[in-house]
Amino acid sequence: MKVDMHLHTSKSDGRDSLHNMVEAAESKGLDLIAITDHGPGHGSGITEQQALETKKEAERLQPNYRVKILAGIEAEILPTGEVLLESREGLDIVLASFHGAPSEEVYYRAVLRAVTDPKVDVLAHHAWISGRFAPIAQYDDDLVELMATHDVAIELNSKHALPSWDFLQKCKDRGVKYTIGSDAHKVADVGSVAWARNTARHIFKDEGLFMP
Ligand SMILES: [Zn+2]
Ligand SMILES: [Zn+2]
Repeated sequence: MKVDMHLHTSKSDGRDSLHNMVEAAESKGLDLIAITDHGPGHGSGITEQQALETKKEAERLQPNYRVKILAGIEAEILPTGEVLLESREGLDIVLASFHGAPSEEVYYRAVLRAVTDPKVDVLAHHAWISGRFAPIAQYDDDLVELMATHDVAIELNSKHALPSWDFLQKCKDRGVKYTIGSDAHKVADVGSVAWARNTARHIFKDEGLFMP
C-alpha cells in the first residue's frame, strides 16, 4: 500500500491547491494520502474551521479519484506541551509537532506531555529542532512508553529522514505504530517517501502502519 500521510497545501505554507495535490497523488499511483496543513499557532497555520472545510472539499473530490483522501491537521506543540487544537471533531487525522524548539530539554519536556493528549494520533518529525539534536536515551524510552500506552503513532518523515533508526527500533519493540509522510509542500514532492518506506521495511518489517 502506497501512502503519504503528511501533505501541505496553499492554505498553509504549501505552494499548491488541494486539488492539484490530489491530482499528483493519483497520477503517482498512491493509495492513500492525508492533507495536514499547519494548525493554529504556526506562522502560516489555519483554523480548525478551515481544516474542516478542507475535509469537505476532499469529500467533494473523492468520487473522482481512486486515491483515498484523508483530511486532518498538523497541530503545534507549545513549549509547555500543550497541543494547540481546540477540537479534533470531524478531522480524520491529527499530527502533532514541535517547530523550533530551542533545546533538547525543552523539546522532550513538551513532547512527553503532548503525546498524552487524546486529540493526537501521530507524533510528526520527532527529534527535529533547529540546530543539532542530541537524543537523550532516558527521555526517548519514556516517550516510547507514553506513545504505546496512549496509542500515538510515530511518523517516518522522509523530508527530514527522522526519527533515527535507534529510536524507531524502540518503537517497534514496544508495539508503537507508524505513519509514512513526505511533508510535501508542493506537487513535485507528493509521494517522495523513499526513506520512510525503506525504514518501514527494515525496522517495522512493513507491519504496524497506523490507519485512522
Ligand atoms: Zn512540521
Ligand atoms: Zn509538515
